[in-house]
Amino acid sequence: MSSSNALYDALVEILPQERVVVGEALKERFYHIWRTDVPLNAKVFVMPKTTEEVSAICKLCSSLNQPIIVFGGRTNLVGSTETCGDELVLSMELMNQIEETDVGSRTMTVQSGVILEEIQNEAKRNDLLFPLNFGAKGSSQIGGCISTNAGGLRVLKFGMTRALVLGLEVVLMDGTIINSMKKIIKDNSGYDLKQMFIGSEGTLGIVTKAVLKLIEIPISRNSAFIGLNDFDKILQFLRFVDKGLAGSLSGFEFIEKYCYKSMTGETSQNNPPIPPSYNYYLLIESMGADSVRDKALMENLLTQAIEEEIILDAVMAHTESDFNWFWSVREDVDVIASMCTHDQHFDVSVSPNKMGPYLKGVLEEMKNVKGVEHCFAFGHIADGNMHFIVGKDSEADDLRLAINEVVYRPLKDLQGSVSAEHGIGVHKKAYLSISRTKAEIALMQSLKATLDPKNLLNPGKVLN
Ligand SMILES: Cc1cc2nc3c(=O)[nH]c(=O)nc-3n(C[C@H](O)[C@H](O)[C@H](O)COP(=O)(O)OP(=O)(O)OC[C@H]3O[C@@H](n4cnc5c(N)ncnc54)[C@H](O)[C@@H]3O)c2cc1C
Repeated sequence: MSSSNALYDALVEILPQERVVVGEALKERFYHIWRTDVPLNAKVFVMPKTTEEVSAICKLCSSLNQPIIVFGGRTNLVGSTETCGDELVLSMELMNQIEETDVGSRTMTVQSGVILEEIQNEAKRNDLLFPLNFGAKGSSQIGGCISTNAGGLRVLKFGMTRALVLGLEVVLMDGTIINSMKKIIKDNSGYDLKQMFIGSEGTLGIVTKAVLKLIEIPISRNSAFIGLNDFDKILQFLRFVDKGLAGSLSGFEFIEKYCYKSMTGETSQNNPPIPPSYNYYLLIESMGADSVRDKALMENLLTQAIEEEIILDAVMAHTESDFNWFWSVREDVDVIASMCTHDQHFDVSVSPNKMGPYLKGVLEEMKNVKGVEHCFAFGHIADGNMHFIVGKDSEADDLRLAINEVVYRPLKDLQGSVSAEHGIGVHKKAYLSISRTKAEIALMQSLKATLDPKNLLNPGKVLN
């Protein structure tokens, strides 16, 4: 698009010229944080600063039949910010203000472009906690987290993003502003409309603001790495430790042997916290109110679990630096991704008691797929959520499909999901029917047609 175009002319009526990017300048923009080698392929890139500007842009695009794609922090793992060339990219990066931290109500009111880590830090400054946490916290925006209903490392205790959003402001494709920015926890006055937008991957509306729920910051945090050989003992240990900690278990992460060895091997900055001689590893976290008592409680439980042969080994983090070391082993996914010539990411869920046989089957079958170099398995096992990163020797389509087949095929019978937390985007669209019935997909399509009848908002994402 040139700067002498009807769309451009109308956009610079809404926004200052420097916030409407076209032509050569688009080459300095990117569709994903990991693909800064690929210049953005889009018609125009705009950066609104207010909800009213977003609304005016939507109204304009609606009248011109102009497709819009929303950019948050561009950390998604499902191709949902990929562009075709004819889109207007609406980037939320300048709607980056924390508007209010209300300590009494334990809420924070934010614009959607605020980076997740800034929200965590602001909560901490006020002696509160925003519990949503995952590896991409330094780049992902709260609007992106809301639009993908992000999960992460503490879902076990605090739920997914949807459990942490009290209020939402959304702009529809026709420019209507839906303001539901209440700070109240309980509101059964009709349908809970905000939940419809949470997890809709920007296909139903543009999130412009949110009221987030904060909780009291824990006084003590304890973590331990566990080693064991028998998968069935993992769920036994989960019940044992959850009961023993009486509600303070906040993290229960899983790493399979090959993945653990790679995450703590030569190419990693992290040494192994526990010897790499076990089949499975767990990283647990508890949050409490009494440093001495909580540490002793976890230590005693781990000793008892070893004595009762539920687990084989355990190492507790004794210092802040141990704590950071343990969690950076789990969070540094780049180490394993960088071992792959090409990589394919998965984020599936099955009920926890079906996970053992499923995992075993995937790891076995993956060995038989020609072209597969690595299969790393790790995840949020207490949520029944497993991530696979599959390293492969090419981007060939038949290889991609063969790998998908191994991971996705068993899920229908197991009543699992092709996406536990990352969403559908474009990469998993063809597999949506594994997780959802025909009637569910038809209802999604009819919601989409009601809110965006011309199919202009993130077209081609999630649904066909
Ligand atoms: C290292 C790494 C670790 C990760 N770990 C996890 C994890 O543990 N758990 C997890 O759930 N995810 C994880 N992710 C995936 C990703 O970080 C999340 O999906 C995140 O919520 C995306 O936020 P974003 O701001 O980057 O959104 P983007 O990638 O920019 O966008 C994601 C989708 O949301 C839409 N969107 C963005 N902002 C808005 C808005 N304001 N209004 C409407 N639509 C919008 C986009 O159009 C797109 O469809 C990880 C990613 C990386 C790279």
